[in-house]
Amino acid sequence: AKARGRCRAVLFESAMADVASHRLKLEQGLRVALEQQAFRLAWQPVVDLRSGRLVGAEVLLRWTHPELGEVPPARFIPVAEDTGLIVPIGAWVLDQAVAQAAAWRAQGLAELRVAVNVSVRQFDQDDMPARVARILERHRFPAALLELELTESLIAQEVSTELALRRLRELGVRLALDDFGTGFSSLAQLTALPMDRLKIDRSFIQGQAQQGSSQAVVRSIVALASGLNLDITAEGVETLDQQQWLLSLADMQAQGYLFHKPMAPEALAHLLQEGTDG
Ligand code: C2E
Ligand code: CA
Ligand code: CA
Ligand code: CA
Repeated sequence: AKARGRCRAVLFESAMADVASHRLKLEQGLRVALEQQAFRLAWQPVVDLRSGRLVGAEVLLRWTHPELGEVPPARFIPVAEDTGLIVPIGAWVLDQAVAQAAAWRAQGLAELRVAVNVSVRQFDQDDMPARVARILERHRFPAALLELELTESLIAQEVSTELALRRLRELGVRLALDDFGTGFSSLAQLTALPMDRLKIDRSFIQGQAQQGSSQAVVRSIVALASGLNLDITAEGVETLDQQQWLLSLADMQAQGYLFHKPMAPEALAHLLQEGTDG
């Protein structure tokens, strides 16, 4: 039994070592990718739920590791956050997204709102609002067409973050609370934050058909948003049933495979072109 126990301990240690070395590999890979600008952005259209008309797009970071292949954000974003690499990576995402959207605008393509995910760690930086303002100026892009998506974990943060959010909003930038319903924020905190939109987490939309509890959560979020005068986006709408049910609650915007998957910028430009022609 003792020998088995030791063997298990060794196995456990080597598994831990694997995890650690895998993380290290990801971290090193992220540094190289940042240096070589090897990230890409996928664009997922946001539509009006009733008409399907394109109203915006969310940019989603994509990374292909030279050996590991395509690594999903759920795997590498946490590593980027732990190491602080999310700060320069996030800055790159914001600059790229605004540059691309500004280029489309200059070409006369249909206007769209650009939504960019922002990590709480980016608010550790000095004067985040000024950095955002500089990017908008550099690309001559209207602040009102930029929406920053923040997760609820941000709410528990410091007063300095709340101030930064207010300054961003004064610039005209819009703020959305992402994955709403999955965090632990209190309603009092929500009303104190300068928000424009709630994004209903995919888990509640997709639980809708099976579970009365998910339905209840979605209903409450819709009521809350209407009471606080916030816009709503439903994430992860995949079926006509989900679309119909959500429409029975309220008009809102939506993202999901029912409408469009995240796509390369060329494909979105194509969609925008159709919108402009039609
Ligand atoms: P998120 O912000 O909640 O983004 C939505 C995720 O849902 C995306 O996954 C998108 O591809 C996926 N999705 C959209 N529609 C559907 C659908 O109908 N069905 C299903 N099953 N999935 C759908 P993705 O691209 O893997 O991103 C995962 C998360 O990584 C994002 O969740 C976001 O939290 C984070 N992330 C992505 N890009 C960035 C970034 O540039 N910066 C930061 N800080 N986080 C990012
Ligand atoms: Ca998001
Ligand atoms: Ca989300
Ligand atoms: Ca989500």
